Amino acid sequence: MDKKIISISLANPRGFCAGVDRAIEIVEQSLDKYGAPIYVRNEVVHNKFVIESLKKKGAIFVNDLKLVPENSYLIYSAHGVSKKVKSDSDNFKLKSIDATCPLVTKVHKEVNHYLKNNYEIIMIGHKGHPEVEGTLGQDTTSKKMHLIEKVSDIHYLNISDENKIAYVTQTTLSLDETKDVINELKSKFPMIEGPKADDICYATQNRQDAIKQLLPQADILFVVGSKNSSNSNRLKELGEKKGIPSILIDDMSDFNPTWLDNKKNIAITAGASAPEILIKQLTKLIQSHSNAIINEIDGPKENIKFKLPII
Ligand code: SF4
Repeated sequence: MDKKIISISLANPRGFCAGVDRAIEIVEQSLDKYGAPIYVRNEVVHNKFVIESLKKKGAIFVNDLKLVPENSYLIYSAHGVSKKVKSDSDNFKLKSIDATCPLVTKVHKEVNHYLKNNYEIIMIGHKGHPEVEGTLGQDTTSKKMHLIEKVSDIHYLNISDENKIAYVTQTTLSLDETKDVINELKSKFPMIEGPKADDICYATQNRQDAIKQLLPQADILFVVGSKNSSNSNRLKELGEKKGIPSILIDDMSDFNPTWLDNKKNIAITAGASAPEILIKQLTKLIQSHSNAIINEIDGPKENIKFKLPII
C-alpha cells in the first residue's frame, strides 16, 4: 500500500531555552570539575531524556536533602528554591551551586522587594510546581503570599490592605490566561503593583507565538516534552483550545501510528526543556509511517545566553 503524504511543520523557535541550557551546563561542568556524584535537588529541568543522560554521567537527583551526604555538592534546579531549602542546605553542610534560571531569580528579587516593603503578594501560578514553591518560599513567614491559578480564585482572596499589594507570575504560563487574570486583579484592586511587563519569560512567549501561527492549518499537534513540564503543557493547551488533537510526547515509545490516520498537516513543537534530538526521533518515526515532507517554519532567532556561575 502507498504511504500517505503528510506535511510536517516544525515551529520556530522550539525546544531548549537559555535557562535550560545553562542549568544543564552547570551540572555537566560540576561533574567535570568535582567528579561524580553530584547531587541535584529535584529534576534540574523537567525532561526525562535530559535527566536520564545526566544520571548516566553521575548526577543524583534527590527531593530530600537529608539523603545528601555532608560536604557534597548540591545543585539547585532551574526552577529555583525557597529560602528554607537554602538554609537547610547550609545546615546540612552542603556545597550549593545555583542553577536557578536568571529569569526566575528576577521574580524572586521582585518578591523580596515587596516583602521588604511590607506588601502582600499575589502569585499567579500552578500549585505544586517547583518554581511556584520556590517563589512562594521567599516569604519565610508564609503569611504574605497568596497563590491563585485562575480568574475565579480572585474572589476568595483575603487581603488585609488593598493599598499595599502586588502580583508576580510563574514564568511559564499561558500568555492569554495570565492576561485575563492580571486584568481582573487590576480591576478588583486598582492600587495593585506588578512588574512592568508580566514575568512570563521570552522563551515561553516565543514558543507560544510560534505554535499559534501553525495551528490554523494543523490537523494534529505534537508537543515534545515531559508531562511535568509547565511550558510544554501550555503549548498543548493552545492546540486543545482550537479543537485540534494535541499530544504531549515524552518518549518515542509513547507514539501510536493511528494518530496519523486521516491527518495531512502535522504541527510539531517542543517545550523549553526538550532537546532537539527528540524532535528528530519523532519526525523520523512519522516518516517511517508516511511520505512526510518537513517544513522548518521561520521564526525569531533567540540569541540569549545566560552567564554561568563560578563553579
Ligand atoms: S522556560 Fe524561561 S524561565 Fe524557564 S528556564 Fe527557560 S528561560 Fe528560564
